[in-house]
Formats: sequence, structure tokens, C-alpha cells
Amino acid sequence: MRIDVVSIFPDYLGPLQLSLVGKAVASGQLDLRVHDLRGWAHDKHRTVDDTPFGGGAGMVMRPDVWGAALDDVLVPGGTLVVPTPSGESFTQRVAESLTDSTQLVFACGRYEGIDARVAEVYRERGTVVRELSIGDYVLNGGEVAALVMVEAVARLLPGVIGNPESLVEESHGAAGLLEYPVYTKPASWAGADVPEILLSGHHARIARWRRDRALERTLDRRPDLLAALEDGRLDREDRAV
Ligand code: SAM
Repeated sequence: MRIDVVSIFPDYLGPLQLSLVGKAVASGQLDLRVHDLRGWAHDKHRTVDDTPFGGGAGMVMRPDVWGAALDDVLVPGGTLVVPTPSGESFTQRVAESLTDSTQLVFACGRYEGIDARVAEVYRERGTVVRELSIGDYVLNGGEVAALVMVEAVARLLPGVIGNPESLVEESHGAAGLLEYPVYTKPASWAGADVPEILLSGHHARIARWRRDRALERTLDRRPDLLAALEDGRLDREDRAV
């Protein structure tokens, strides 16, 4: 997959060179390109923003500068991702859907955001445009949101995570539950012992114990996820929890 990130702070995307995403970039599994939006500005001050029509506080990013950048960066069939707090919620399902694209272009806004015509015009031209929010709060810019989304998408690409089984039972995975609590050595620490069942070697009982803890945790922390499970996703033993 090719991922392009356009920002006025390209250095903000530096962490994408680290850890598993960094390895995927280094090995060529991920073609990551970070661009400075100011390279497409037309004046000697490299201006990317202007005052809002209709008045009001703050500045708005100019559509002509964004248009020039996106015309150069988007390839046919590419998906334009516009991080915005007024967007659709970015969830694991959305991350999964983005893995189908051959190219994702992240347009990182600053100030009061990007002139609304940018998303409209690219949509009208047939580009898939996803306006996405990473949560109900406001950040200063789209870079952190792009980091979140790139990492969530990249780890789903084949070969990026060393052991693909790690993806199977995770929170927000196919089961629709939060993950059960996990433990490692030492078996006893600070007066707290690992649950006995996990030391038993009895795989079926461990699987049932984990499922029960996942159900309890989801009920306690995210009852909305349990309520959203389709009929038939819980069996009789689950209902006992
Ligand atoms: N005036 C905008 C509003 O109220 O919807 C907020 C603009 S915010 C200060 C500047 C930029 O940060 C946005 O254009 C977007 O790129 C990014 N941003 C802020 N919060 C975000 C969120 N929750 N999810 C995704 N992007 C966000």
C-alpha cells in the first residue's frame, strides 16, 4: 500500500519511521511519502491559509493550495482521508475498510481546518473521500490523527505484524468484545498472583475463562459494544456471565 501524508509540519510524522510501521516502510511493504504542503503555495511567504468568508475567529486553509498538492499526490483510485473532528468516527471497521485502498492520502488540516470545497470537489470528481474523526475532542492539527490512522491501518496489512494471530482475539476484533486481561512472568508479583487457570495447561478451560473475562470486561466498560452484537453472537454459556 502507498500512503501519502500532506502537512505543514512534515516532521510531525517522524514517528512513522519507528517500530513496526517503520520496519514495514524499510522493507518496502509500505510506501510512505510525507509532503510539505507549503511546497504548493504560490507566494514568497508560502502562505497556505486566509481569513474565513463570513467572518469569525481563526484562519482557514486555502483550497487552491490543497488542490495543487492533491492533484500531484493522488493517484487514480486513491482514497483521500481528511482528518476532522466533524467527521465519521474512525473505528476498527473503518481501519479495515481502508486496507482495501491501493493509496491513502492524508490531508492534515491546521487552524480552523481546510476549506470545505476541497472534500466536495474531489468527491464530485469521483475520488473516495473519507472525513474521519479519531474522537470527540479537538486537536491542533491533523498530524496526530494521521499517525493514529496510519498505524491502525498498517498493522492490518499482511506481514506487518510478526504473528498475525495477535490480531484475532484483540479488542474490537471479529468477536466484537474487548480483550480479556493478559499476564506474563513472574507468576507472583507485588502480592498479586496470576489466575491459577492460566497455569493449568488446559486449553479449553483457558479459552472459556478468557471468553468470560472478555464478556465481563465489555459489560463493565463498554456495554454499548455488547448491545451492538448481532443475535446469535452469544451462546448459552456466554449469557451466564
Ligand atoms: N474548527 C474545527 C472544528 O471545530 O471542527 C477544528 C479545527 S482543528 C483546531 C485543526 C485540525 O485538527 C483539523 O482540521 C483536523 O485536521 C485536526 N483535528 C482536530 N481534532 C481532530 C479529531 N478529533 N479527529 C481528527 N482530526 C482532528
